[in-house]
Amino acid sequence: MIRVGIVGVGKIARDQHIPAIAADPGLELVAVASRSHADVGVPAFGSLEEMLDQGPELDAIALCTPPQVRWQTAVTALRASKHVFLEKPPGATVGEVRDLSALAAEQDVTLFASWHSRFAAGVPAAKAWLAANTIRTVDIQWREDVRRWHPGQTWIWEAGGLGVFDPGINALSILTEIMPREVFVTDARLQVPENVQSPVAAHLAMTDIDGTAITADFDFLQTGPQTWDITVTADEGMLRLSSGGAIIEIDGKPVVQAADAEYPGLYKRFGQLIGAGKSEADVRPLALVADAFLVGTRELVKAFIE
Ligand code: NAP
Repeated sequence: MIRVGIVGVGKIARDQHIPAIAADPGLELVAVASRSHADVGVPAFGSLEEMLDQGPELDAIALCTPPQVRWQTAVTALRASKHVFLEKPPGATVGEVRDLSALAAEQDVTLFASWHSRFAAGVPAAKAWLAANTIRTVDIQWREDVRRWHPGQTWIWEAGGLGVFDPGINALSILTEIMPREVFVTDARLQVPENVQSPVAAHLAMTDIDGTAITADFDFLQTGPQTWDITVTADEGMLRLSSGGAIIEIDGKPVVQAADAEYPGLYKRFGQLIGAGKSEADVRPLALVADAFLVGTRELVKAFIE
């Protein structure tokens, strides 16, 4: 039994982590570190340090805070020789995550940079299809309503909060998982509201060594139907991953249509990594975002008022 503590009891901890841990017979939630002393049926401590000093014995810690504070809490957890599960994005910078990987290796504990969208039902079948076909284009349409999905999350708009890349990085985590070759950014346009630090919309052009034309449109102001789709054309046909990767169609025919099992899948993987004494911390999705900021042109747009 792996005894888990959670740091940061916000939306994702309540919606996904706590139920996924409860459903996994190999895991037990024994405490939380919560600035607001959230009551989720286990002892709550005001900080990670307090949870480590005064709380029950722990084997692993899941960090569900905003990314800007991820590195410091991860360092504290790793130095205490705990296995660490990082919510996505795994840090505010690529360098932070590399630093954590080195520390985890030094401490001989598991570091898992989780990318929940990679555990969506359609992703393995999409990866196999792309490996077997000659890919020409990939188009990502990731459009959601920030007011509906992220109410009150001011950290998203601050530096390091990623703005529209907070959901967009999920598409990039699928892209880097399913593409047979490394992908890189060639051009980006970022639209940043005049009163915040992070983009509300972004348009990326990417490619790979084969010259595949890859485009991504990320929009945080989509009302009405929400879109989380990736469309791939190949010489042999067309594939569409929709609903964030849960549904896959090839040439218009459904292939996989399964219930959401992303977080149970993530925790199963975390347990396997701990058992095998390994770490997994892929920074490529975060590196694509960083590169979009490096090469992107910026346009100031209307202030964002929630
Ligand atoms: P959230 O609702 O704002 O919750 C974050 C929690 O972290 C807060 O409630 C707070 O909990 C704690 N916290 C610690 N330091 C903080 C700080 N400086 N500012 C704000 N909160 C702080 O955010 P969330 O949606 O759960 O997202 C957390 C992480 O999960 C993000 O990296 C996000 O990308 C990722 N994620 C979110 C979703 C989603 O659908 N929302 C999906 C997948 C992944 P306490 O009061 O308990 O300390």
